Amino acid sequence: MKKELTKYGFIQEIFSSFQGEGASLSGSCYGLRQIFVRFAGCPLALGACGTKGCVWCDSPKAQILKPKIFFVEKKAGEQEFKKVENPISVAQLVEIIENLKTPDLHSISLTGGEPLLQVDFVSNLIDELKKRGYLLYLETAYTENLSELEMVSSKIDYACVDIKDRSAQSAKDWKKLAEQELKMCRILQKNGVKVFAKVVISNKSTEEDFRYISSMCGKHQIPLVIQPVTPKKGLEIQPPAWKKIRSFTEIAGEYLSSEKIGLSVQVHKLINIL
Ligand code: SF4
Repeated sequence: MKKELTKYGFIQEIFSSFQGEGASLSGSCYGLRQIFVRFAGCPLALGACGTKGCVWCDSPKAQILKPKIFFVEKKAGEQEFKKVENPISVAQLVEIIENLKTPDLHSISLTGGEPLLQVDFVSNLIDELKKRGYLLYLETAYTENLSELEMVSSKIDYACVDIKDRSAQSAKDWKKLAEQELKMCRILQKNGVKVFAKVVISNKSTEEDFRYISSMCGKHQIPLVIQPVTPKKGLEIQPPAWKKIRSFTEIAGEYLSSEKIGLSVQVHKLINIL
């Protein structure tokens, strides 16, 4: 069974678009063309930290652990999809990526859900993509097993680690989760990955939590992106007021040099692309 899992993986969707998050910090691929491979399943939504995931989750479909089918964009950027059966082999996945390649492609975004939930499969995929010269961007929020992250770290070029504050309600013990996420940043940093941390803030985010996250990033000079939550119908929490945004970036400035602090909004949502 273990062997099977390394050969096959569960995907939610694959498409070509532009990275819409990250500001202009080291590690960010903001504004660059990417092929997005969205992996299925998220340990936070599956209760790994005692809750059902982030309240503002913008990829709820990717929380499903083993979907029967996934969606592949037929032609890069056209936003028309065909259905493909899960699970998929590394070879099939590489073929899909090659078909979505465009002359302006910068990198492959491994996102989710949580890519590290299928770390053996992801590791094999990375090996194949590296052989073909692709740059790799990892978007991750949580793995319990840091040695698994260690296994793939040296093969990744860029990474974004989502650090959750209390208002995200991603964990019963939010500080413990944030500490784990910082350890993930450190492992990636140690392995030469251009990594940054991203914290989504809302009207419910507190100065106390944000100061804690900033001080942790400051300790290891990990660039920090502050991203106001994107408004969504039916969502209880709302974006923070401008006053809060600027007071938070100023707090970050007490711990990090200015080129390591950025404000990010989900630009792809503003211009209505994937
Ligand atoms: S970690 Fe990502 S996929 Fe998982 S619940 Fe949070 S936002 Fe959704």
